[in-house]
Amino acid sequence: MNVENTVIVGGGHAAAALCAALAEAGQGGRIQLVCAEHDLPYQRPPLSKSFLKKADEAIASHKAAAWYAEQGIQTHLGDPVVSIDREARIVLLRSGTALPYHQLVLATGTRARTLDALPPGLHNVRVLRDATDARALRTRLNEMVASGRRLTLLGGGFIGLELAASARQLGLEVGVLEVAPRLLGRSVSALIAGHVLAHHRSMGTEVQIGVHIEGCELVGERLRSMQVDGNRVEVDELVLGIGAVPETRLASACGLAVDNGVLVDACMRTSDPAVLAIGDCAAFLAADGARLRLESVQNANDQARSAAATLLGREEPYRALPWFWSEQGPMRLQMAGLLPPISESALRSGANAGSFTLFHLRDGRLLCAESVNAPLDHMMARKLIEAGVSVDIEALTNPAIPLKSLLG
Ligand SMILES: Cc1cc2nc3c(=O)[nH]c(=O)nc-3n(C[C@H](O)[C@H](O)[C@H](O)COP(=O)(O)OP(=O)(O)OC[C@H]3O[C@@H](n4cnc5c(N)ncnc54)[C@H](O)[C@@H]3O)c2cc1C
Repeated sequence: MNVENTVIVGGGHAAAALCAALAEAGQGGRIQLVCAEHDLPYQRPPLSKSFLKKADEAIASHKAAAWYAEQGIQTHLGDPVVSIDREARIVLLRSGTALPYHQLVLATGTRARTLDALPPGLHNVRVLRDATDARALRTRLNEMVASGRRLTLLGGGFIGLELAASARQLGLEVGVLEVAPRLLGRSVSALIAGHVLAHHRSMGTEVQIGVHIEGCELVGERLRSMQVDGNRVEVDELVLGIGAVPETRLASACGLAVDNGVLVDACMRTSDPAVLAIGDCAAFLAADGARLRLESVQNANDQARSAAATLLGREEPYRALPWFWSEQGPMRLQMAGLLPPISESALRSGANAGSFTLFHLRDGRLLCAESVNAPLDHMMARKLIEAGVSVDIEALTNPAIPLKSLLG
């Protein structure tokens, strides 16, 4: 079956993976990709890691411009969609271009959360979400290294902590302020959060958790200081790492069902069957009936494949095991599965000093694994979770027993 004229709104991981899946099916010529950014779809994870540390590293595009041309995929870059007319099946771009569609895919991702106490446009307050942010931040960090300035991060989530580690490796003084009682919110277990805290302190980052931000002092267009737990903290440069909100404004404005993400079924269809949504912006129906919205490359890629099948007239519900990775200086953290609220935990030492995997089980079934610098064990752990096998805790925690042997 051929897809009909398809417009993809967004040019991130989900959009790139959808283009690749449809091109593989020989359907490139029917696709128009519209992105607010000026860059072709590129890899976002390096932006808080290697890209900041290497002055000459380029943005890593998923595919070169020539590939889109060869596939017949028309790209509209730097020209965001400003409205959707679902009745007429037309999207309108900021330039005034109107694109008719038979099928529309929203892949608009998230935007960085900001702080009400800080007016937009302050010269020394930033977020890190896209290539434009990363290019400007890299320049600024290098100036700060030369002038001995300190970087302050508000928020101890993945992006903030990756950035903290990169900045330390560049030689900057770094402080992290987290209002929650632990790092990484509820994305990881308490044990891993504690390990991550110790890791950052060992890198020389000053990390404060459970803080109260009592006020912000502005001078002109700059943030001069913050009042934290009764103390004045001078600010040279602040990066907000306080999470992201799903970019659902277009969807809401055209009347699609939205609730912390564009609501989609397991085949990525929104409340209008002619419109799909994928990636960070989509809140999907999981197999157990729960509504989930995930922010990860895996989720964007796998949902794109499910959406491609839907566009091609096949039903391939999204049922992939969620997994995620994060690199914070020399520490590589990998997670597979969703952390259950109540579970039994078991620790397995890894092959190298300081490496380990923490397993979470319920009724003998492995549901989630969190690994620190243990990529091989993690790969097997993922397979064990996917296989849904019951495992023996003794065997799981004995590094002399290969995890592969537990697959049965
Ligand atoms: C710095 C950073 C580091 C990360 N590191 C990791 C990591 O190590 N591992 C991991 O798994 N995940 C990581 N992530 C998360 C991962 O990048 C996202 O989950 C993934 O990019 C989601 O893909 P997406 O296509 O849904 O959204 P995005 O990649 O965010 O793309 C959305 C796109 O839509 C565009 N858009 C929005 N509105 C419009 C509009 N109206 N018109 C046109 N275009 C529009 C945006 O400009 C953007 O280009 C990281 C994210 C960031 C920012």
